Amino acid sequence: MAELQLNHIGKRFGAVTAVENVDLIIPDGKLVCLLGPSGCGKTTLIRIIAGLEEPSTGHLLIDGEDVTALPAHRRNIGMVFQSLALFPHLTVAENIAYGLRIQGAARPARKARVDELLELVQLPGLGDRHIAQLSGGQRQRVAIARALGLEPRLFLLDEPLSALDAKLREAMQVELRLLQQRLGITTIIVTHDQREAMTMSDLVVVMGDAKVQQVGTPLEIYRNPVNTFVADFIGSSNLLPVAVAGPTRVVLAGQELTTPAIGADLADGGPATLSIRPEDVHVLPSGAEGENRVAGKVTFVRDVGASVETHADCGGFTVISVAAPKDRPDVTRGDDVMMELPSASCVVLRR
Ligand code: ATP
Repeated sequence: MAELQLNHIGKRFGAVTAVENVDLIIPDGKLVCLLGPSGCGKTTLIRIIAGLEEPSTGHLLIDGEDVTALPAHRRNIGMVFQSLALFPHLTVAENIAYGLRIQGAARPARKARVDELLELVQLPGLGDRHIAQLSGGQRQRVAIARALGLEPRLFLLDEPLSALDAKLREAMQVELRLLQQRLGITTIIVTHDQREAMTMSDLVVVMGDAKVQQVGTPLEIYRNPVNTFVADFIGSSNLLPVAVAGPTRVVLAGQELTTPAIGADLADGGPATLSIRPEDVHVLPSGAEGENRVAGKVTFVRDVGASVETHADCGGFTVISVAAPKDRPDVTRGDDVMMELPSASCVVLRR
């Protein structure tokens, strides 16, 4: 088990900056997702941690020991790639035992460990099967068992579930998380799927444009995004242009709204963006007066069974509300409404 520390890690490929000045502490026993859009540097960062890529700047410490110059095979890290990289000509047991054999473990010890690992990933009795005879989810488990075989200090996974269909993927997310918690192994997973990151992580590291944009628990990041990139990337958000009108006030389409305390970096009268989650916005009948309500006209209603989405044009800006079926607003396209943006749910960000 191990704590991982990244100090000023950067990586350039010629003119391309793939990772810029990343400072990060990954606590012992936690599961951390590196989350971000394609090309933001996630894979490069996890490859640097694995020792498969040399950083251009910075240092990497495992339990306080500087491992920046240590070759990959001496870092004692288990890794699962998107491609899984299983050996198709070997059986399940031979695949799982591969690292143990290289390390020189005796046959009986190998057999016992393989049985234990098959049990761990819920594939008991499948040791003699060939890889081609397994389903996608079973192959995934073999790759995980192989990576865990040598009891690594760190467990790294690069988009491990992206080849699976949606249902199996969700089931594997839960399974992988339970396994990680049972073993208490420090784990880093690369994903571009925010739902996956929210499901599995103790901490989410949101990356964008080669940099870490925000680090926090899934709920912290969801509730308090630090900028519009994070607000937009994590779930969906209404991002509305406003003018700052005081320490806790903004103006949206001519209407004053109360907000939680606005950062000192946002000047009075200056432009800002109001971020509010659609599920926090309520649709009320036209004329319903009260705090933090903006008049609008319904432009679109979508009922997908599990939720109802209502779009309203409020002075030229679209405000979206999502409600549970029991709270379905009784409105149709063209209706006048009041959109309520409760103060506590508003986050004011720099535009
Ligand atoms: P994806 O989700 O698409 O895999 P990513 O977030 O993992 O993306 P990286 O693969 O780390 O992103 O790439 C970050 C940037 O570095 C990209 O602009 C990419 O083109 C560039 N890059 C990565 N590897 C190399 C390389 N070996 N040579 C040159 N440029 C590279």
